[in-house]
Parts: sequence; structure tokens; C-alpha cells
Amino acid sequence: MEKILISACLVGENTKYNGGNNLTPYLEQLLEKYELVPFCPEVEGGLKTPRKPNERLDSKVIDSDGRDNTAAFNKGAELAYNICLYLGIEIAILKEGSPSCGVHEIYDGKFRNKKIKGMGVTAQYLKLKGIKVYNENEIEELLK
Ligand code: SF4
Repeated sequence: MEKILISACLVGENTKYNGGNNLTPYLEQLLEKYELVPFCPEVEGGLKTPRKPNERLDSKVIDSDGRDNTAAFNKGAELAYNICLYLGIEIAILKEGSPSCGVHEIYDGKFRNKKIKGMGVTAQYLKLKGIKVYNENEIEELLK
């Protein structure tokens, strides 16, 4: 069975900044076809849950208190890629809008609930390394 890296919150793990999750309704269908490898770059990068929301701002990632968490986000991205390499994973399903996992959109870095075009740190890094990245709204493409 092909393995897919998936944002941990999409399989129901409570890794979101507010302690919740983003369980996808496609979980059972995905499990029929793929072996899922859940991963949360922010938690694995060393951040606690719950935590302050973070947003990308230029080359940094900052939380709503202004703390610079760039190193943790970069570490999470590198670990995600290492897992892909180690397990031969070529596809990732990542949560849209997240400063780590966003595939097409992220928040604008000003904590005013405004989204802009862009990618999360992990999504961008995985794509750069040749991993195909999908968001949760594109899962049906993987079920055909
Ligand atoms: S970093 Fe990614 S996997 Fe972790 S909670 Fe945020 S969106 Fe989900």
C-alpha cells in the first residue's frame, strides 16, 4: 500500500494551536487505499499544544505575541521531509491555511484573519523537494 504523509490534525489528532483537530470526512476512504503517516510539523518542531496562533511574515514565523518561532517551523519541515525520504513517501496531504501546512493559502502575518496566496513552511519545503502536496479539499483526486 502506498504511504502518504498527512497533517496529524486531519486524522483527528488534537494538534491544532487551540487544542482541537480538523478531522477529514475522507479518512475511511483514504485508509482503504493508502497507509497514512500522520505528522504535525509544529508539534514535532518543538511547539506546545495549545499554543498561540502563528503566521508567516516575510522569512519568519511569529506568534500573536510577537515571538519568533521560525526555528521550530523549519525544524518541523525538515523532519517531515526526513520521514518522507525514510519511508519512500511521494505524496503529502496538508491542512490548508496553516503557517506550516497551507498548500495554496496562508494568513497574511498581521493576525487580522486575512488570507493571502502562499504556502506553509512545511508544504513549501516538501514541494521544493519534489513531494506532491495536496490540501484537504483535494483529497478526492487521490481517491479516483
Ligand atoms: S501544523 Fe499542520 S498538522 Fe499540525 S495542527 Fe497545524 S495544520 Fe495540523
